[in-house]
Order: sequence, then structure tokens, then C-alpha cells
Amino acid sequence: MESALTARDRVGVQDFVLLENYNSEAAFIENLRRRFKENLIYTYIGSVLVSVNPYKELEIYSKQQMERYRGVSFYEISPHIYAVSDNTYRAMRTERKDQCILISGESGAGKTEASKKILLYYAVTCPANDHMAALGDRLLQSNPVLEAFGNAKTLRNDNSSRFGKYMDVQFDFRGTPVGGHILNYLLEKSRVVHQNQGERNFHIFYQLLDGGDDNLLSTLDLERNPQNYHYMVKGNCPRVSSINDKNNWKVVMKALPVIGFTEQEKLLNIIAGVLHLGNTQFGEGEEGETYITTETQIMTLAKLLGVDGSALREALTHKKLTAKGEEMISPLNFEQAVCARDALAKAVYGRTFTWLVEKINQSLAVKVGISIIILWGCCCDLPFNCMMGTFYDSSVIGLLDIYGFEVLQHNSFEQFCINYCNEKLQQLFIELTLRSEQEEYETEGIAWETVKYFDNKIICDLIEEKHKGIISILDEECLRPGETCDVSFLEKLEDTLSGHPHFVTHKLANGKTRRVMSREEFRLLHYAGEVNYNVNGFLDKNNDLLNRNLKEVMCQSDNQILSHCFRKEEVIDQKRQEMAATQFKNSLMKLMEILMSKEPSYVRCIKPNDAKQPGKFDEVLVRHQVKYLGLMENLRVRRAGFAYRRRFEAFLQRYKPLCPETWPNWNGRLVDGVSLLVNHLGYKPEEYKLGRSKIFIRFPKTLFTTEDALEA
Ligand code: ATP
Ligand code: MG
Repeated sequence: MESALTARDRVGVQDFVLLENYNSEAAFIENLRRRFKENLIYTYIGSVLVSVNPYKELEIYSKQQMERYRGVSFYEISPHIYAVSDNTYRAMRTERKDQCILISGESGAGKTEASKKILLYYAVTCPANDHMAALGDRLLQSNPVLEAFGNAKTLRNDNSSRFGKYMDVQFDFRGTPVGGHILNYLLEKSRVVHQNQGERNFHIFYQLLDGGDDNLLSTLDLERNPQNYHYMVKGNCPRVSSINDKNNWKVVMKALPVIGFTEQEKLLNIIAGVLHLGNTQFGEGEEGETYITTETQIMTLAKLLGVDGSALREALTHKKLTAKGEEMISPLNFEQAVCARDALAKAVYGRTFTWLVEKINQSLAVKVGISIIILWGCCCDLPFNCMMGTFYDSSVIGLLDIYGFEVLQHNSFEQFCINYCNEKLQQLFIELTLRSEQEEYETEGIAWETVKYFDNKIICDLIEEKHKGIISILDEECLRPGETCDVSFLEKLEDTLSGHPHFVTHKLANGKTRRVMSREEFRLLHYAGEVNYNVNGFLDKNNDLLNRNLKEVMCQSDNQILSHCFRKEEVIDQKRQEMAATQFKNSLMKLMEILMSKEPSYVRCIKPNDAKQPGKFDEVLVRHQVKYLGLMENLRVRRAGFAYRRRFEAFLQRYKPLCPETWPNWNGRLVDGVSLLVNHLGYKPEEYKLGRSKIFIRFPKTLFTTEDALEA
């Protein structure tokens, strides 16, 4: 048999806190690499799970595997996403505290796959009752639908989520999942009208053309070949070898009724409508007026969107203005008409996506209230909330699967928002893990070496601070009357922020020009690295404007999805809506509040190579991710500190049978009882410390031995 030592040499350590040389990044990466070569894709840093995308199916997700992890302590068994799922579930049940699992990593690192595995674990292993049996199914089936509409093939990931997702799973007092709720963040709408080379539009368009039967396509007046649709060919990539659009179409069509959809036809009319909108072409008349050259198309389009054809034609080529209380119609020039068309396509798709999430939420909503009213009918003079609180004691596990830090060749408004989101998540991580760890040692009166970490609050402030943050300046520039443009926005940034240690433009302090930077860019020094943002399109994307007359046409639609998405009040109420970046900032603030109220667990995903290949471990790429995921800092904090801690009473309660003086009951001071117990167990002074209310154990293996003794 292989000795334990050689096995460790071969497969590395399963918890980085056990690494001899824990300060060495090279040792860290070598450990990841060894494990990856052995198909051991999971490794812990204490309670944080690090996962490396294997890019191949591993036989580690079966029902038998789920059983292995059920109710088993974290450190007793090899690291796994199921261990995190199970541990979180048990913490929710025993500590009665809401939990959340934060999954992070760059595009293609495996976040969505991880979140699906967690959901699957709960759907399979949690107790179910007949009434709720279908919920697990609905939770699982919501995934293919969301992915069809919100995911797309990009250069980095064939199934890239183009929206952020936070999902709450709600459990009742028995631990049965009874409901769910999804919050979605910033769908990348620009993809509807434009795709970069080698990328595609959202999957649903290709699925419909490939999978829809002849009858359906003829009703929607569509042809099978994606090349015929302008919105599908910009990236020159209609087919992807790893994607079976036809099969996926079937999966989506099967999933829709499971999650309670009755509006399939209306939904598909909209999807087809977007494609027809993309094929709407304009011509320029002799006097510069714009007209639609695709007349038959516009009638089909109007029919699909359920709106009046001539009103739509008019709204695509004219703009309604109100000046001095009077309404005026002004013709659009060619470029403006193209912009109006694309803005409509983005608005229709984006709002339909939000509607879809709402619809899924209705299907996942907790329905147990009804049965409680019947059960507790005799208490009907109690307010409903009170009844829910008293009799229906539920808890929540939240799952966050949100875009990772993004640095592309060309970074725009979307990358700015995505990277801002990652700064906020890093803040939360610092707040919840690093800082709270240090503070705990202080309150417990335990001496330890302070670990230096970079606090990225300064970057969050740079972006979000009122009046002088980048978002404020952008909003101001969008609202400022007169000639504003992306370049004037950049100038404003330079005026306000030059000299900030994390903000750089081509202008040097001595008035000279930094040659390596374009005049249209600003650079942010993010916690994870530098990113240059090109300001082109920032104002338009932040404004996200749709001409009023287009809104008027859409809110008259007899397609109920669209009339729900485009409300009449929006047209009547002339108040300016919040700008896109501010909306995003506010939704992130709310997300942070939600996450702060929960006990977090972390899954850090790593992408081993850019070629999406199994078995290939690109060290440079991995090193970069280890750096910006803050894994070394995380490990240092863990090692400087203690891998494990427990309140005295809990520790005594569990291990008191191991010592004659504490068994069956210890009546003295708790700290004395724990002290006797660990002395009896032979703990060495360097292995543990006693704080004011908790015992801190440095290495997991000390605890393994104690656990083993309990079982012996
Ligand atoms: P994005 O930010 O672009 O949405 P992501 O982090 O969500 O990226 P995933 O879509 O989860 O990335 O993973 C990308 C691909 O990697 C998957 O489609 C799958 O092929 C593969 N993959 C990820 N995790 C696993 C796993 N645990 N086992 C097998 N394959 C995996
Ligand atoms: Mg994803």
C-alpha cells in the first residue's frame, strides 16, 4: 500500500492550511496543480472551497456521492462542493441562521456549474413532502430557461452567463425546500444587437431556429438559417461544436410548463419579433428623411409584437418632443433611426428577460402560507405575518453566481459595472472574513500577528461616492444640458479625479501625455489589477433611452407580456428614471445588505486554461487568478490564526465523554473544563489557545484526532 507520505506528495494537501510553506505562492500553485492532475479539483483554505474547472465530466456528482457527504463533518472527508452544500445546510438548521454561498471566479471558471450542483444536492437530499415534491423540480428546471435567455457563447465560455444571479432557497422548519426567489443583475443587453467576432447572441435565438418545428417557424415567419438575421451574424459564429441547440430547445420547451408557463406563444412572438426588428432596414430620401425599406418585414414585426404597423413605422423613423408644452414630431436621420431600432430591440429583450425572472419567481414562491391558514384556521384573528413567524419558522440559503472580474481587449461600460461589482464583493469578503477574523481574536483576547491586506474601500469610493465618484460624474454628464459626449465625460473625470492613486488617464501630472494610453480611455487600478476603459458609448449606455413614441406604441401592445413590460404610467410620468449605472449601484447596495445579514461560505472558482481543454494547467493564468481572488491573503489569515474555533460550552458538550473529569457533567467554570479536557487529550500548547468564550485550534488534524477518539 502507498504510504500516507507518498500519497500526499502525489496528490498534495486537501487543505492549504496544512501546507508547510504557506507563504509561498509557488507552493500554493504546485499543490493546486498536483491535485488537478489527479482529478482532485477541490481544495480547502479552511472553510473556503477552491475549485478548478476540470473541463470534463468527473464521476463525483452521483447520488451515492451525495450520500457520502450527508451529515459528515467538513474535515472528515475529501473536499467537495457537496461538503459546502451540506455544511451550509446543517449550519442553517442547527444555528438557525440564514446562510449564503458566494461563488466567484472569472468567466468560464465554473461558477454556474457549481451553483447548479449545490441546487441539485438540495433537491435530491433534503427531505421533501408530497405537497412540496415539485419544488425541487421547479428549482432545477428554472435553470435551462434562464440560461437559454440569459447565457451566450463568448470567447471565454461557450455557456457564459450574461447576467448576475442571486437566488434564495427557502426551507421550512423540517428542512424541506419550500420556495425560491431570484434577483437578476444587469443583463448584457447590448449583445442582442451586436456580438464581437467569435461570439453569439443569447442561446434562445439559435435554439428557436434549430429546434422549432416547421409549423412554428412558418407562423413566426422565420427561416431556419441564422445567417438570414442581422442580429445573429455579427460574431460570425452561428454554430458551436459544444452546443446542441436543437436538444437544448427541447429541454427548454419541456421546462417551461414545469415552471408554470402558459405564455409560450407570446414569448416566442417576442423572440421572433426581435429578429425581425434586426432585419428592419432604413433608406435615406433625397431630403435626408429616413424611411423603412423593408415594408413587409415591418407588418410581420408589428403582428408579432401585437402593435399597430403604421404607428410602429412612424415611431421608428420619428421622434416626439415636447417643447414649451407642445408636442412636436421630428424626423430621425439614418443613424438615429438605426439607434432607435436597436434601442427598441434591447428594451424589448431586456424587459422580457426581467418578466421571465418574475414569472419564475411566482412559480417558486412559497405557497405553504395557504396550508398554514387552513391548519391554523382557529387562529385567524392573528395577523398573517405573525402566524408565519410563529408557526412557519423558515430559513434561507442564498446562492450568488455573479460575473467575475473581467479584463477584455476592449473594456466598456459593461466591464466597468462588472468590475465595480467585484470590488463590492471583495469589500464584503474583507468585511466578513478578514476583518471579522482579526476582530474576533481581539475580542477573545488572543495575541496573533496582524495580516496586512489591501482594503479596497478606496476604489469603491472612487466609483460610487456621491458627487465626486465616477458614477455621479457620469450621471451628471448625462443630465447636463447642452453638448455633452463621452469625451466631455472623460474630461470631467480628469478634472475631478486626477491625482487619485487609483485613477489614471493619458494626461500626466506635468502636462505631458502618457503615450501608452489612448485619449478615449481611463484606467482604474482595481484590487485585482489594472483595467483600461474606453469611454465610447458610456453616456448612451448609462442613459439607456428609448424614444417616447416607441414606448407609447409598445404599451398599446396586445401581447400581454409586452403590455406588462411597457406600462402606460411610464409614458405619462415624465420623471426621469434612474440612470443605468445608478440603478446598478443601488441594486448592489441592496445585495450587500442581503449578504451581510447572512452567514457566508465561499467557493472560489479557477479556470485552468483559456483553451477550454481538460488536463491543461496554465500556471501563469492560474497565478493571476490566485492573486485577484485574494487566496494567498486568505490563507495567511487562516494560518496566522486558527483553523477551527468553537464556544466552550459546545466543545465541552461534544467531547466531554473523552475525559473522566468532565463526564458526565462539568459543573465548574467552562474554561477550566475545556482546559482539563484538552490536557487529558494531550493537546500541545502550540496547537490551541483559550480565548474568553471560545477555544481556538490551530490545525484541522488536531480536531480529526479528537473526532476519531470520540468514534473509537
Ligand atoms: P461565466 O462567468 O462566463 O458565466 P462560469 O464561471 O459560470 O462562467 P460555467 O459556465 O460554470 O462558468 O463553466 C464553464 C464550462 O466549464 C461549463 O460549461 C462546463 O463545460 C465546464 N465546467 C465547469 N465546471 C465543471 C465541473 N465541475 N465539471 C465538469 N465541467 C465543468
Ligand atoms: Mg456562469
